Amino acid sequence: MDSYSTIRNEIVKVGRRLAARELISGSDGNISVRLTEDHIMVTPSGRNKGLLEPLEMVIVDREGSKIKGELEASSELAMHLSVYEARPDVRACVHAHPPYATAFAVAGRELPFDVLPEVVVTVGPIALTEYAPPGTAAVAKSLEVYVNEHNAFLLQNHGLLTVGCDLEEACNRHETVEHCAHILHLADQLGEITSLQAEEVARLSKIRNEAGKRPS
Ligand SMILES: [Zn+2]
Repeated sequence: MDSYSTIRNEIVKVGRRLAARELISGSDGNISVRLTEDHIMVTPSGRNKGLLEPLEMVIVDREGSKIKGELEASSELAMHLSVYEARPDVRACVHAHPPYATAFAVAGRELPFDVLPEVVVTVGPIALTEYAPPGTAAVAKSLEVYVNEHNAFLLQNHGLLTVGCDLEEACNRHETVEHCAHILHLADQLGEITSLQAEEVARLSKIRNEAGKRPS
């Protein structure tokens, strides 16, 4: 037990939740939480995120140097650190490869946020970033132009990253974006996808902004 045992356990639960919902497979995905101004807890590299143990988490400083942990930090650590550096409001990041959202990313198709009210209220616009090889600094670079204006990022030919004010919000956004992608995939086969009216999107966006859910 250490002072972060609650957060370690929360990350374990989120890993199990992602695996149970088939949003990851093998050793896919990574989860992180900002502990303090300088310290971040992140999942280890190469482990199945549905089978993590609390003490396998790695604590790093904001430059990525390991402070605590037996295992190596996630290979996508640079992506997580770049988000925390740019967004003081973000306290958790979840990255996985959910099949429907990733299918949009593979097809190079934008995932419209203005079709389902809950996506407008809880997530906001969804960025489609340029392809960058997983595990390289180029992933962080590909987020740069979007990071301040979005809470969800489709990483082209790769997967999905969502951020939040805590782990639950980041994880909920992950599930909401995947659910939205699933529904849009089904709706596409039935006919044309109808977006909400612009006034309704504005009204719902106002609710998101008033709830303090950046970006405005
Ligand atoms: Zn990935």
